[in-house]
Amino acid sequence: MKGSAINQKTIPHRIYLTEDQIPTQWYNIRADMKNKPAPILNPGTFKPLSKEELTPIFAEKLVDQELDNETRYIDIPDGIREIYKIYRPSPLIRAYNLEKALDTPAKIYYKYEGNNTSGSHKLNSAIAQAYYAKEQGLKGMTTETGAGQWGTALAEACSLFGIPLIVYMVKVSYDQKPFRRTVMQTFGAEVHPSPTTQTQIGKKILAENPETTGSLGCAISEAVETAVTHEGYRYFLGSCLNYVILHQSIIGIESKIAMESIGEYPDIVIGCAGGGSNFGGLISEFVHDKLTGKSNPRLIAIEPASCPSFTRGKFAYDFADTGKITPLCKMYTVGSQYIPPSDHAGGLRFHGMSPILSQLFHDGIIEAQAVTQRKVFEAAVLFAKTETILPAPESAHAILGAINEALKCKESGEEKTILFGLTGTGYFDMTAYEAYLNGSMNDSSISEEELQRSLAQLPVVPEEA
Ligand SMILES: *Cc1c(COP(=O)(O)O)cnc(C)c1O
Repeated sequence: MKGSAINQKTIPHRIYLTEDQIPTQWYNIRADMKNKPAPILNPGTFKPLSKEELTPIFAEKLVDQELDNETRYIDIPDGIREIYKIYRPSPLIRAYNLEKALDTPAKIYYKYEGNNTSGSHKLNSAIAQAYYAKEQGLKGMTTETGAGQWGTALAEACSLFGIPLIVYMVKVSYDQKPFRRTVMQTFGAEVHPSPTTQTQIGKKILAENPETTGSLGCAISEAVETAVTHEGYRYFLGSCLNYVILHQSIIGIESKIAMESIGEYPDIVIGCAGGGSNFGGLISEFVHDKLTGKSNPRLIAIEPASCPSFTRGKFAYDFADTGKITPLCKMYTVGSQYIPPSDHAGGLRFHGMSPILSQLFHDGIIEAQAVTQRKVFEAAVLFAKTETILPAPESAHAILGAINEALKCKESGEEKTILFGLTGTGYFDMTAYEAYLNGSMNDSSISEEELQRSLAQLPVVPEEA
């Protein structure tokens, strides 16, 4: 909002909303999309999955939300808002010190979601998912976790609602991040290094590749298999799916209210993108403005060069897992058989991207950029030194995106307003920081050959073939 009545000097560093400003409804982007995201397909019949087919895998309320392309605003139950009050509203912060260090005329704001024990935005959806599981009277929940943030968030949410949780943790993280595992166990979760020998798919993957350090896709396969073979259990996912993007819209709704309270509106909104949940949540109200013609901010997703779903992937139906047992989602994907290099430290390793965001990208409503990891950590260190929050490597992708845009403003002299999502803290990622600091970190990106090999294994869906 140019020409704001508020003197810039009076804008505080931290803009806090009050408890009763926690939104009472989530915003469902799909209601305003002209082209809806493609339906999830049954991999056997290639027919869209019905509610009846999805409810043996997912909690019922979440299936309703997953399939709802029409309801614009969906009520947040009081039981969820009450728990949100433990750590929300999250602060919007003006990065004055970072601006100074960059010597930029741009105004940089960030929405900080690391202000809770789980250390990331994932708790927003975890709480909603555990709440609905409890409401349905489920006996237990299963999930996978990569770097460990989702597992931590869901373990916390499950302990709040008193529901057992089984977590399949990608083996390389299980070994590299033992403290993450211990946090989950502290909250009462059962944690296994994936692949395990306890599932059919785990056994198969281990037989084919005994040395594997695991992948998110493989852990998903194991968690789904466990959910469908245990009575009263369901599988819960922390990103990518429509209902997760819905829950995370709370980030964008709060951001917009906070910015408006100081007479601001972003010209550019930037978030990191793994499966797309924080970015989808952060841009929610701004996409709403864009889709309804109220404003036209640039919305930029930042992804790692070693897992570049948007920028180098294909918009096609693909499995969400390596074991090819999940339904098919139409999304930008580098292929479910692609496993990022194990020296890739920055997270965001999921091969696909949220179907909602994929459609928005396909329609030119959002943009994407891929970045290499040493630049990401350079941005992380500058941010830590100036803003004194040690960011998660994932979040540092968004920081780098914001820095790049702010430096462009320095060149052009434009005073743009930038909002980015600071999704979490990086205190469990010190091995990665150490590798950056001692110079052993690589800038791996996927080779064209490797990409084509992975894409050649995409499922052939009749309508598309
Ligand atoms: C999981 C995670 C991400 C990436 O996931 P999205 O679903 O793309 O948001 C980003 N930042 C942090 C801190 C995370 O834990």
